[in-house]
Amino acid sequence: MKTRCAVVRMRLPGVESVDELGPRLSSHVETCLTCQAEAARYRTLRRHLGALASETIEAPDTLVSAVAAQIQHPAAEDRRGTMVRRAAIAASAAAGAVAAAGAGTIIVIGLRRTRSAA
Ligand SMILES: [Zn+2]
Repeated sequence: MKTRCAVVRMRLPGVESVDELGPRLSSHVETCLTCQAEAARYRTLRRHLGALASETIEAPDTLVSAVAAQIQHPAAEDRRGTMVRRAAIAASAAAGAVAAAGAGTIIVIGLRRTRSAA
């Protein structure tokens, strides 16, 4: 990988467009297919993340009461199993609360893996 390609890869996540990279890096992107592909991935990522901002995900009406009931009255098990169940319920609730942020992170990880494979 060329040094300029590496610099472009490092800076692309922090800019809105290639023009913000400065004249030298912008002109490099104009002639480098690898960096053009990387910039296109970031444009796609920004478009998908922008779409998430307007998306509303509603939890079922019974979610809070079901989670609270499981935490307060877990199924009869040994103490260790109860602790594991409570931790799993808490983790599930937390995962639901950060679903949108998690989706963005997954997209970023996917992009990085795609870059590493190229
Ligand atoms: Zn390049």
